[in-house]
Amino acid sequence: MIVSLPAQNFSKMDSKISGGGLEAGVRGPGRIQPEELRSPPPTASDDLGAPRSPTAEELELLARQSQLLEGATPEKIVAWAVEAYFPRLTMATAFGPEGCVILAMLAKIEPRVYVFNLDTGYQFPETLELRDRIAQRYGIEVDLQKPELSVAQYEARHGGPLYETDSDRCCLDRKIAVLHRAVEGYQAWMSGIRRDQSTHRAHAPIVGWDKKFGLVKISPLANWTKKDVWKRIAEGNIPYNPLHDRGYPSIGCWPCTRAVLWGEEDERAGRWSGTGKTECGLHTGE
Ligand code: SF4
Repeated sequence: MIVSLPAQNFSKMDSKISGGGLEAGVRGPGRIQPEELRSPPPTASDDLGAPRSPTAEELELLARQSQLLEGATPEKIVAWAVEAYFPRLTMATAFGPEGCVILAMLAKIEPRVYVFNLDTGYQFPETLELRDRIAQRYGIEVDLQKPELSVAQYEARHGGPLYETDSDRCCLDRKIAVLHRAVEGYQAWMSGIRRDQSTHRAHAPIVGWDKKFGLVKISPLANWTKKDVWKRIAEGNIPYNPLHDRGYPSIGCWPCTRAVLWGEEDERAGRWSGTGKTECGLHTGE
């Protein structure tokens, strides 16, 4: 599945890196061309359920591409991702402010990118209503990817809500497993994570290899701050979750999310509060 890159590609990349700068979509000598990053399409014999392993050359290429994109705007990073991987590019969103900003960019750059939401059955009504407002505003129908079991079936099987007793297993069943299925056949996914959100995310590359899902992972907003995101939302009148105005800076499932004390707590302090858990596992990479 993974493209083995001929040695001459690296001399091209070296000259590009030393030359600095990148314009997404611009081709020419010294640029990493999208086809250099692409794998061939899947065949019937490919095991799409098993995460792929990158070659050392591919990892090096991705690291260099990430370095090149460090100074690029999020729009240019999204445009680069589309050029390099569409139609095998996808995006997961929980309709956080970052996801809404990227959806607004995709509406202009390539609205046909497949975007999905992990609909655990425990989302706030405000989150699902935002999905409809995004569809009306941008014409992008974010697909709701659901676990195999409904909430009622799941809780019956486990003798009650698992988020109370084993939140890792609940996230595994209702988020991680669903994401694995949703990305089958795709080669790259985009996320809205920012480096300043948490220590877990502080070293997220713009472009990197996600070994958990066997995909290239692109984070166009990695270098942005919370202020940058909200400035763009205000300037673009981009729809956002009204819960943000009620003290919820980070919104996940309602049983595992609480409002935070503004200025006194980390923006993700309201997620799995008091449990020591800080991530659902989508962005931890292991
Ligand atoms: Fe379950 Fe809470 Fe994880 Fe949602 S965030 S999947 S309710 S443990």
